Amino acid sequence: ALEVRNLHKRYGDLEVLKGVDLLARDGDVISILGSSGSGKSTLLRCINLLENPHQGQINRLRARVGFVFQSFNLWPHMTILDNIIEAPRRVLGQSKADAIAAAEVFLEKVGIADKRHAYPAQLSGGQQQRAAIARTLAMKPQVILFDEPTSALDPEMVNEVLMVIRALAEEGRTMLLVTHEMGFARQVSSQVVFLHQGQVEEIGTPEQVFDNPASERCRQFMSSHK
Ligand code: ATP
Ligand code: MG
Repeated sequence: ALEVRNLHKRYGDLEVLKGVDLLARDGDVISILGSSGSGKSTLLRCINLLENPHQGQINRLRARVGFVFQSFNLWPHMTILDNIIEAPRRVLGQSKADAIAAAEVFLEKVGIADKRHAYPAQLSGGQQQRAAIARTLAMKPQVILFDEPTSALDPEMVNEVLMVIRALAEEGRTMLLVTHEMGFARQVSSQVVFLHQGQVEEIGTPEQVFDNPASERCRQFMSSHK
């Protein structure tokens, strides 16, 4: 589980998060929607401790958090397999053999086992993003954060990545997902959050937030993203 309470974040005079509350129970898939600049990435970065909040609490109850970015940022000089085993070996202290055995399972899961000895530049964007997901899985995260994982991809590669994320949802992974893929968010989410100017403007089931939003702003956002 992951709990965010009254989270505030400012950059200089700009208050970007103005008291965000969020609870992800085990197995929850929470999609975070909102206009550009509403604070979605900042929220994920605070949860992942890439940024320091100014006020509020984040309880990552025994949780190790993994982050999948819009840009895949694999290490270009390492093979896909080496990209995946690097952190488990260094951070988790896994033996090389154990790390490789685990990596093979994750490569299989994301469907790029045949690319294990290739370098990132030899993969398509969709394959690179799936490699990045495998690398995140190798760190045994209890919560996975995705920040627009498909928005840097050519349209024909979006689906292969969404299918991997859907499979993770179906295994009961706890995930927070910032996405503009509305149809996908509706299908996989247990909860949908609509962020507006650094505040949770609306939160509920996909049916509530997509079909019956209480807030006028959320309604406008939904009708302009159909
Ligand atoms: P998008 O949909 O475009 O990715 P977002 O909802 O993810 O938007 P954030 O990246 O969280 O938005 O940014 C929220 C606000 O914080 C924006 O006004 C942005 O300019 C500002 N901001 C983000 N990072 C920084 C930073 N490092 N320094 C100063 N301002 C920042
Ligand atoms: Mg963003």
